[in-house]
Amino acid sequence: MTDTYDILIIGGGPGGYVAAIRAAQLGFKTAVVEREHMGGICLNWGCIPTKALLRSAEIYHYAEHAQNYGLEIAKPSFQMDAVVKRSRGVSAQLNGGVSMLMKKNKIDIIWGEAKLSKAGKGGPVEVTVGEPSKPAVLPQNPVPKGVLGHGAYKAKHVIVATGARPRVLPGIEPDGDRIWTYFEAMKPAAMPKSLIVMGSGAIGIEFASFYRTMGADVTVVELLPQILPVEDAEIAAVARKQFEKQGMKILIDAKVAKVAKTGSGVEVTIEQGGKTQVLSAERLISAVGVQGNTEGLNLEGVGVVIERGLVKIDAYGRTNVEGVYAIGDVAGAPMLAHKAEHEGTICVEKIKGLDAHPMKKTQIPGCTYCQPQIASVGLTEAKAKEGGREVKVGRFRFIGNGKAIALGEPDGMVKTVFDAKTGELLGAHMVGAEVTELIHGFVIAMGLETTEEDLMHTVFPHPTLSEMMHESVLDAYGKVIHM
Ligand SMILES: Cc1cc2nc3c(=O)[nH]c(=O)nc-3n(C[C@H](O)[C@H](O)[C@H](O)COP(=O)(O)OP(=O)(O)OC[C@H]3O[C@@H](n4cnc5c(N)ncnc54)[C@H](O)[C@@H]3O)c2cc1C
Repeated sequence: MTDTYDILIIGGGPGGYVAAIRAAQLGFKTAVVEREHMGGICLNWGCIPTKALLRSAEIYHYAEHAQNYGLEIAKPSFQMDAVVKRSRGVSAQLNGGVSMLMKKNKIDIIWGEAKLSKAGKGGPVEVTVGEPSKPAVLPQNPVPKGVLGHGAYKAKHVIVATGARPRVLPGIEPDGDRIWTYFEAMKPAAMPKSLIVMGSGAIGIEFASFYRTMGADVTVVELLPQILPVEDAEIAAVARKQFEKQGMKILIDAKVAKVAKTGSGVEVTIEQGGKTQVLSAERLISAVGVQGNTEGLNLEGVGVVIERGLVKIDAYGRTNVEGVYAIGDVAGAPMLAHKAEHEGTICVEKIKGLDAHPMKKTQIPGCTYCQPQIASVGLTEAKAKEGGREVKVGRFRFIGNGKAIALGEPDGMVKTVFDAKTGELLGAHMVGAEVTELIHGFVIAMGLETTEEDLMHTVFPHPTLSEMMHESVLDAYGKVIHM
């Protein structure tokens, strides 16, 4: 079979399917090749199912603390299989939704694993679709109805949106049983009594928070001097204090040197400050980052430059080879779904010849949905100073906000970093209840290049948590009201 498309996208994750919809809207004949699950990691094993698990944990937490709100609830309990079933159901619903969107936009889905067979050089790019080279890590979702099958396809433009997979440290290879990646952590057969989480980035901390709230004995081991290493140090410190208050153990400047499997779990050798200790737990979650899916695509074969395991692109997703583009996790950090989606849109609009504006990577927000939540955009105070900026910093703590007190959420902070000379908002950092729903306010402000004056003159509704964003700005300029 040979079918010819204007745009063929390899990978049906948030980067790929959003690029496909935008391409169809612009009138391109479009196809998506997917080997495992429409919606990619995000919908099936990442953003969405974790948030469903964390929602169960949040409700469990509130039920446990109902008396704080004057309510009486008999001691809550849970069935882990029901919690997991709900999370998987949420993923399945959205996975089906993506297939429907493809159908609605008349986008072909081709089921199988794609690789490039011929670069464009004036003609179309050729792609072969065959059987997946490896079985899925965990059972895949059902193949959507009405998809096209294996064969040779041609397209004027091919967008590689193949995403990423868990990074594996030598000697600490996940085995699907005692040593988990996010795949197994998302779908535990039973609740482990104890757990060691290696790595304290967003993925590690979200799982640590979920399992701790559900009652597991959780220890987080972080190689660097702070948990949540990309976040502002002060925000990470507030979060750490809350996690420790909840009973989570946290080791920083600590290296997992060895993991040995025992009859009932794992023995983990940890080196910290010149000393070695061995911790035992039922399970270990390896959360040491992800690596791009660049292999098996014959990218180098057609001349595409790969740098440190990621496809090298320009601001519009173009690789060095005509007609071949890359977006999302496979094209580099920050490895976030909203970044993948935007890159998809920018790439397709540029192909159309529209005035696509390149993404400002410094204005991509990052959120971690643990309890307390963390959200940020722009430069941390330390990074701003490292970059030679003279800064004005504002802080406002949740304890001074009426809504936070009414919600029973007095712990947290909003921090803003301004350029002292120009008033430019360089960064905003938050920890506490619902901050992942607040951060977009600062993202819009940065995008519109608002200054401290604009923010100070903005009226925020009362009583809301958002008032703390205003207060933090006021604090940077010595005008804070409620502190
Ligand atoms: C546990 C976890 C939690 C996360 N939480 C968040 C969050 O809260 N917010 C956030 O923004 N991000 C989150 N992420 C990151 C987010 O999932 C990724 O950034 C996002 O999925 C990247 O989208 P993508 O389209 O680049 O790739 P993916 O979503 O990985 O999709 C790539 C697709 O390509 C397919 N594919 C690969 N190779 C081929 C091939 N050769 N042929 C055919 N198909 C192929 C794969 O099967 C996959 O479906 C999380 C990730 C994890 C693991």
